[in-house]
Amino acid sequence: ARVDNPYEGAQVYVNPEWSAQAAANGGGAIADQPTAIWLDRIAAIESGSAGSNTMGLRDHLDEALSQGADLVQVVIYNLPGRDCAALASNGELGPDELSRYESEYIDVIAGILGDAAYANLRIVTIIEIDSLPNLVTNVSPRETATPECDVMKANGNYVNGVGYALARFGAIENVYNYIDAGHHGWLGWDDNFQASANMFLQAAQANGATPADVHGFITNTANYGILDEPFFDANTVVGGKVVREGNSSWIDWNRYVDELSYAQAYRNLLAGMAFDDNIGMLIDTSRNGWGGPDRPTARSTSSDPEAFVNESRLDRRIHLGNWCNQSGAGIGERPTASPESGIDAYVWIKPPGESDGASRDIPNDEGKGFDRMCDPTYQGNPRNQNNPSGALADAPLSGHWFQAQFEELIANAYPPL
Ligand code: BGC
Repeated sequence: ARVDNPYEGAQVYVNPEWSAQAAANGGGAIADQPTAIWLDRIAAIESGSAGSNTMGLRDHLDEALSQGADLVQVVIYNLPGRDCAALASNGELGPDELSRYESEYIDVIAGILGDAAYANLRIVTIIEIDSLPNLVTNVSPRETATPECDVMKANGNYVNGVGYALARFGAIENVYNYIDAGHHGWLGWDDNFQASANMFLQAAQANGATPADVHGFITNTANYGILDEPFFDANTVVGGKVVREGNSSWIDWNRYVDELSYAQAYRNLLAGMAFDDNIGMLIDTSRNGWGGPDRPTARSTSSDPEAFVNESRLDRRIHLGNWCNQSGAGIGERPTASPESGIDAYVWIKPPGESDGASRDIPNDEGKGFDRMCDPTYQGNPRNQNNPSGALADAPLSGHWFQAQFEELIANAYPPL
């Protein structure tokens, strides 16, 4: 039987390939931390994710047994028409290739995870990040729509792909499915929050899945949203004005200003729906530390709400919608079990040092496109309200090692290393 919180009391698997990279490149202080394994294409099941990774899924599970680990984190990330609102992590499967996703990817992974040799490991699966929310926020008639997301909504292959994965893995007793629930800077607005929850439920009832196959949700995967803003929340009043109510371009009517409050609120909403009352949340804290010299040390004294928020916020991005290789970011909270109410763990799903996307067009055989949100000279699009991208220059393809970013993440870690 599954335990309520799989992270409680568990030794979490350390990926030796990431650990060696980190240790060899100035990250000795974090090299012993657990990170997730990304199955970012069919070939990754046998021979490792993008970049210089070579270990397949069985290699990792065997290594986990020899480490004496209790828990392994695996990212399921290969939907048909993947990354429909961006280009940096477009994948290998076309929009219509659901049957290949099921038979060549999910079935193969389920066959390995279900091997009796691994029955004593708790296996956490992170299910298809950046997929279902796109069907809410980036479809017609919204200004932020993309033709690719319209296709994935119309053909049902995200919903059916997620449903299939949940059902296959949910049938394996030691697997814990966590669905991606975006982050506060994406779904924290009233028109996205409940609508996305409805979409998660629809997927959890599709293609053989039931809500009982869902153990929880994860927020902030591979994103940069701050865990906790100490100096204000959305309802703070400055100069007689509520910052949320159109008085701060950073907040812009969002109900949440940080990931912890967002994840806890989402947990309450989802637990009140058809999902289990005991669902737990994970928060990816691998790159949301925002330490370093530019970190505010006190609440602003400005009586202008716009200036107040900009001077007080720890999250130093140019715009909340920026997501690629963010300049100034730092390593966040170290992985921890049960850090706060409703939160199963802080986890490092995105391996620090692996790029979010190339800063220019780089030909490749991984299906990855060039997204200008990764180009530091780009001036933006409707999804970041036409702001500069804030991305670091000279970035390699997504998933490949990006040394300059890694060094910045180490230098700006918070808590400091
Ligand atoms: C990439 C994957 C990579 C993952 C982890 C994603 O953005 O598309 O190839 O494995 O990041 O770095």
